[in-house]
Amino acid sequence: MGFFEDCYLNMKSGISRAAEKTKKVLNISKIKIEMAERKNCINDKYKLIGKYVYDMHKGGEKFEIEDIADWLEEIDALSSSIEECEERLHRAQDKVCCHYCKYKNESGSKFCSNCGKKISFAKRGSKSSCENCENEENNEENVEIS
Ligand SMILES: [Zn+2]
Repeated sequence: MGFFEDCYLNMKSGISRAAEKTKKVLNISKIKIEMAERKNCINDKYKLIGKYVYDMHKGGEKFEIEDIADWLEEIDALSSSIEECEERLHRAQDKVCCHYCKYKNESGSKFCSNCGKKISFAKRGSKSSCENCENEENNEENVEIS
């Protein structure tokens, strides 16, 4: 059993960059769909409220804000969950946050597109210019299979 488990783990850790990128894109579209669904939900509530108020008016009844309190609360909850989705989306898109104005810039941005200041953010996975590191990388690549 151990052997097969090891193989499985090796396969998992050896997941290609392309597969990871695909996973990332899928995750991003999943979040976007989630956001769109919640926005639709909010629009449905708006319609319900609108129709309710109209029907009250038509029936000559007095409209009270408490009557629609539940829907208003639901809209509030949906709005904050959309904000959470936005946060997750920014993280999934690897957006770079500006240290000066907190604006979320596209990944790999060198300057903030909001305030124009330089983004002093060492991007993960970027190639180091360190000679020692490069040598190490080369050594790894040059390992010969005996
Ligand atoms: Zn900025």
